[in-house]
Amino acid sequence: MAQWLKRGADAAVVAETERKVRDAVEGILADIQARGDAAVRELSVKFDAWDRDSYRLTDAEIQACIDSLSAQDLKDIEFAQTQVRTFAQHQRDALRDLEVETLPGVVLGHRNVPVNAAGCYVPGGKYPLLASAHMSVVTAKVAGVKRVVTCAPPFHGKPAPAIVAAQALAGADEIYCLGGIQAVGAMALGTQSIAPVDMLVGPGNAYVAEAKRQLFGRVGIDLFAGPTETLVIADESVDGELCATDLLGQAEHGPDSPVVLLTTSEKLARDTMAEVERLLGVLPTADIARQAWDRHGEVIVAESEEEMVRIADQIASEHVQVMTRDPDYFLTHMTNYGALFLGARTNVSFGDKVIGTNHTLPTKKSARYTGGLWVGKFIKTCTYQRVLTDEASALVGEYCSRLCALEGFAGHGEQANIRVRRYGRRNVPY
Ligand code: NAD
Repeated sequence: MAQWLKRGADAAVVAETERKVRDAVEGILADIQARGDAAVRELSVKFDAWDRDSYRLTDAEIQACIDSLSAQDLKDIEFAQTQVRTFAQHQRDALRDLEVETLPGVVLGHRNVPVNAAGCYVPGGKYPLLASAHMSVVTAKVAGVKRVVTCAPPFHGKPAPAIVAAQALAGADEIYCLGGIQAVGAMALGTQSIAPVDMLVGPGNAYVAEAKRQLFGRVGIDLFAGPTETLVIADESVDGELCATDLLGQAEHGPDSPVVLLTTSEKLARDTMAEVERLLGVLPTADIARQAWDRHGEVIVAESEEEMVRIADQIASEHVQVMTRDPDYFLTHMTNYGALFLGARTNVSFGDKVIGTNHTLPTKKSARYTGGLWVGKFIKTCTYQRVLTDEASALVGEYCSRLCALEGFAGHGEQANIRVRRYGRRNVPY
């Protein structure tokens, strides 16, 4: 049986926090729906001390942001976007339209059709998370989305130049400096100045993630991508310093980020806990990381790799860093995770910033039913059908007629019957 050396947050406390966020989001979205731009502006002033007549950035403002970055900064952004684009293009190529003859004269097919307009949220409350622009905007464009709208909050009282540059270089069609619920609410519901989009994508804090959840149905959403979570699975093949570094690297996202070590080695568990304390003494972002570790840090010692897989699948973490002798065991056996980082040579930060897999990933156990953002999320798989011969129409019609009768659907049945009479030259019902 696994042993917990450190336990995470109390479930009742988490549920109460979630309830408060849910209620706050509900009221704010209703206000945006009712009052449009006026509400958005008030909310932007209230939450971000950010007031403008129009939140859309002009071409001159966008160019000024790009010009303010160094040549190396721009090269680094372009490198990261190239990696994301390359992988996304391969994934796009793997999506095929399909047409098959399932019975003689019966042709069924599907077409992969991109949504027309996507709203890409780029978080920027605590850090200017420009990487999210690569992940959402580049991927939307590779998918073929015609209108890509993107929002990010102001950072230190103005648009964050690196975010704006990344949004523009990624190919965004409209860039707004707006954060939080007011940003996703405006994009989804539309206002006097922002035309509504068809779907919302991108990560964000608990407010952003909850707002997207509540807007689902009104628009599509990619997934529930809230505060970052990480799970490190390790054995004695690595040391405590590496594990602690990988835990704190994600704990610095925010005080509400769960960070978990799962290991078969009690010695590694204790070494890691000591290393976490040591690194918290030197990490510049330790104030945030400390809160995440104290509130949500967990250390679990399991008896076997099989037990680690079982526990990891229950946790269903957004990120899973595997540093064991045989990382591929977890690739083969695990079923619930946002992204796997296999072996000590890679890590979550590579995925977050540059390597090319998408960093917008499922949280709060939504990895049980979805993977992360990818081109496929922007694409609707729409089916169609044709019946090529009279015989096929009459054959399907006979079955359809009887099945409609079983359900008591007279109108549906008649749709079938009229075809059996015309194309099969037979009297119905059967
Ligand atoms: P953010 O842009 O998500 O949120 C900032 C906005 O929140 C502000 O603009 C403000 O309008 C709003 N806000 C703040 N306090 C509020 C309140 N009390 N009521 C209503 N609105 C409020 O930036 P952030 O806060 O730095 O959070 C980024 C989040 O994104 C982190 O939690 C990080 O872990 C997460 N993230 C998740 C993934 C993923 O794929 N799951 C990836 C990257 C980042």
